[in-house]
Amino acid sequence: MVIIGGGPGGYEAALVAQQLGAHVHVVERQGMGGSAVLTDVVPSKTLIATAEWLTVTEQAGELGIGADGGPDGDPGTLRADMDTVDRRVVRLAAKQSKDIRTRLEREGVTIISGTGRIDAEISAQGSRRIFVTTTAGEELELETDIVLVATGATPRVLPSAQPDGERILTWAQMYNLTEIPEHLVVVGSGVTGAEFAGAYNALGAPVTLVSSRDRVLPGEDEHAAELIEAVFRRRGMTVLSRSRAAAVRRVDHGVEVELTDGRVVTASHCLVAVGGVPATDGIGLTEAGVEVSDSGHIKVDRVSRTRAFRVYAAGDCTGVLPLASVAAMQGRIAMWHALGDAVSPLDLDTVAANIFTAPEIATIGVTQKQIESGEIDGAITRLPITRNPRAKMLGIKEGFVKLFSDRSTGTVIGGVVVAPRASELIYPITIAVTQRLTVDQLANVFTIYPSLTGSIAEAARTLHRA
Ligand SMILES: Cc1cc2nc3c(=O)[nH]c(=O)nc-3n(C[C@H](O)[C@H](O)[C@H](O)COP(=O)(O)OP(=O)(O)OC[C@H]3O[C@@H](n4cnc5c(N)ncnc54)[C@H](O)[C@@H]3O)c2cc1C
Repeated sequence: MVIIGGGPGGYEAALVAQQLGAHVHVVERQGMGGSAVLTDVVPSKTLIATAEWLTVTEQAGELGIGADGGPDGDPGTLRADMDTVDRRVVRLAAKQSKDIRTRLEREGVTIISGTGRIDAEISAQGSRRIFVTTTAGEELELETDIVLVATGATPRVLPSAQPDGERILTWAQMYNLTEIPEHLVVVGSGVTGAEFAGAYNALGAPVTLVSSRDRVLPGEDEHAAELIEAVFRRRGMTVLSRSRAAAVRRVDHGVEVELTDGRVVTASHCLVAVGGVPATDGIGLTEAGVEVSDSGHIKVDRVSRTRAFRVYAAGDCTGVLPLASVAAMQGRIAMWHALGDAVSPLDLDTVAANIFTAPEIATIGVTQKQIESGEIDGAITRLPITRNPRAKMLGIKEGFVKLFSDRSTGTVIGGVVVAPRASELIYPITIAVTQRLTVDQLANVFTIYPSLTGSIAEAARTLHRA
């Protein structure tokens, strides 16, 4: 088995394949853990952890917390030391990458540092060759029965906004900043743009978010997106709705972001977060019979098979759903299928997703839009978090729990949680959706009093007669 790419799609697959008795090689050019660990999930969430602690202090006054010191009895304001923050981010990502490498090697997986490419030819026995250019410059050839392509994606670069790594940045370059930007413009208000804009705003940077749509986070739950945009504005962020960046240029000590309507925003730094492109070029895919879409994504079925014999693909290079959890599951499914183990095809209806803003937005299952459009016959309930006694005690002012149920069976078919640590709170709803529990079954489970999960049980109770 040869796996090209050592991100979650690749390394989780390697563990399964090794467990099932295959002889596994992983070819990785950047570092184990892939972009997920080195530039995307791990560093961004580590940075956001500092930002989140700073937003917690918004309620300090109300909760009776002050600080001594500061001139003339002024308690002073908390601030983040960017150098320390970024050093922690980079250290933590490197450690996580090393831990993954150690675990794989302990299990018996062979890791090759280099870039892999598939040979077009298949031998009479059905095996293929993988050509590897190692990071040391050596050329290797590996003979393999099964290939998994898990090469991920890289940040999309706009020709009129070329990143220079200093002032015009991709998300992968954000961890080089040693100081809080004097003014950060974030182009793109999808999940990555919103997370970084929210984080830097909380860290103390003046932030302008350029959003091409009516509201931030297009495609996400409407109430959740409206709430986050209101929170962003309350914290002093400038959100430019229905605005599109035409070009980003370097000027003396900063950048100029030109919008398509002619307006120009000057700032110290600009993050361009306009999505990713699959890393599928130049690795012999089409020649090997793998079908690739116009966008460059590898076409796969629900057990991660491509069109080519014994070539599987997983993760962001397939464009199925750009989440680390989905990449990992696609990779495992590929191995279970390829090595003849029991396997259930990928089910996207049970994928929980989270946006790490403050508060967080977690979602699972069907959307309110699908119910309102009549596509699904569902009932909807929404409880503001401010009604929850624990939220009152903690001083939480913003958020809600939404639950959707099937009108004919009463099963839970989806939900949205907007709250601090929504990523944890969504779990009971995810279990309910995955295991097809009814709203009564979800409601009749004990919750701690007082707790935020109490709102999930209460929301389920309100759907009893729906
Ligand atoms: C800023 C940001 C934050 C995110 N936060 C989250 C989050 O909180 N939760 C979540 O679930 N998802 C998150 N994501 C999405 C997540 O990062 C991706 O879905 C995940 O990384 C996909 O994993 P992968 O294995 O497909 O690819 P990757 O993690 O991209 O790994 C692929 C690896 O393959 C290597 N490679 C490519 N080509 C070759 C080749 N020819 N030879 C050898 N190696 C090669 C690459 O260098 C890379 O290291 C985030 C994304 C971004 C951009």
